[in-house]
Amino acid sequence: MASVSGVSSSLSLLSFSSKPSRLSTRRVSTVVRNAISVEKKPFTLEKSEEIFNAAKELMPGGVNSPVRAFKSVGGQPIVFDSVKGSRMWDVDGNEYIDYVGSWGPAIIGHADDKVNAALIETLKKGTSFGAPCLLENVLAEMVISAVPSIEMVRFVNSGTEACMGALRLARAFTGRQKVIKFEGCYHGHADSFLVKAGSGVATLGLPDSPGVPKAATSDTLTSPYNDIETVKNLFDAHKDEIAAIILEPVVGNSGFITPKPEFLTAVREITKQNGALLIFDEVMTGFRLAYGGAQEYFGMTPDLTTLGKIIGGGLPVGAYGGRREIMEMVAPAGPMYQAGTLSGNPLAMTAGIHTLRRLMEPGSYDYLDKITGELIHGILDAGKRSGHEICGGHIRGMFGFFFTNGPVNNFEDAKKSDTSKFAKFHRGMLEEGVYLAPSQYEAGFTSLAHTSKDIEQTVVAAEKVLRRI
Ligand SMILES: *Cc1c(COP(=O)(O)O)cnc(C)c1O
Repeated sequence: MASVSGVSSSLSLLSFSSKPSRLSTRRVSTVVRNAISVEKKPFTLEKSEEIFNAAKELMPGGVNSPVRAFKSVGGQPIVFDSVKGSRMWDVDGNEYIDYVGSWGPAIIGHADDKVNAALIETLKKGTSFGAPCLLENVLAEMVISAVPSIEMVRFVNSGTEACMGALRLARAFTGRQKVIKFEGCYHGHADSFLVKAGSGVATLGLPDSPGVPKAATSDTLTSPYNDIETVKNLFDAHKDEIAAIILEPVVGNSGFITPKPEFLTAVREITKQNGALLIFDEVMTGFRLAYGGAQEYFGMTPDLTTLGKIIGGGLPVGAYGGRREIMEMVAPAGPMYQAGTLSGNPLAMTAGIHTLRRLMEPGSYDYLDKITGELIHGILDAGKRSGHEICGGHIRGMFGFFFTNGPVNNFEDAKKSDTSKFAKFHRGMLEEGVYLAPSQYEAGFTSLAHTSKDIEQTVVAAEKVLRRI
């Protein structure tokens, strides 16, 4: 009964908000926006609560991805109605400056006019062919010319799939089984990677997920991030057995953690010496730290790279790529099987192509660096003025902070952050109209649509909240 009433109440809400014939979503948002700026109505989440309560009867935890449920910060998760530029509007008409950016893809701002126009044109020709299309070549060429180590690329539908494919390929290419990953790094939810993983796994404090067979993780070796001694010991203990090291070249999934410069050069060296591959998981950092990703930013050349998030421009896309001799092992060029019904579909390719075109414009990354620097310094200064232990940083359009004096070089350090203070900060910021990732263990993102005024407004809000928590 509960689920039936859940469905019908969701439907009635839906038919209310999407009676679109004359009042388009855009119009509704404009109306809502105007209403807010005139009345400045009190912050309530009544409709969010109603919809989310119905959702809990329909989907596990009310969501389709765990961190969205606000478990670690507590309080009512927010149900959204529309997004545009740097802003989001929830179903109660509250407006937020957004620093989640759909977890990264929205780097040029939400619902960009040019991307939307291109999507509409593509849509008219159909959403999926299940056969080759020219747009795949276009995005593939863009990715190959952008990312230094990629000579060939395979498109998939998510970052998870990209990392699964890259690991299978590393194992196929080297004929070895074992992989080294770092504590607090997240490489999607495939079995082999659910060992000391970051993101929602860290947020929910799950050590390992039930349902993952021991056999699937027995070849996954782990080390603290930035700890080359442990990596060396693993190579000594498992000589000629290690297929690859996979890592986030800047960690975003246990909060924002940067690599020590000597750490990246050391993992490059040690993999080369031992006949193992180096996989950069750039699902988050690709096209975010630089147009060519972390590898361009740090001047490193991994053997394989995984991508996702930004290259789909808000549609589901992932990719893995690398040296031609390795990529030619992938079916049907070679024997390593990997496939996808919707992979490379024209809609997703279009969103990726037009997002990357915008990012290619001169000055994009300087702009991201400037506003993100202003934001993080504003937050850190405000925190210190209010007497909080706080540390953090940014690279281009990616940032993060912890409620600890730091330094934070790995997941153990990150866990010293005062997460209950973060929860209070998060809630306070929502009330001030700022949407931050609902977990201490996630990085934040800015976009080309964020203005200096957005940043100012955010820093003022942070100052206010930090003073009272
Ligand atoms: C988001 C993310 C993934 C997983 O991508 P999905 O599209 O959520 O499957 C993998 N690796 C990193 C570094 C990520 O940030």
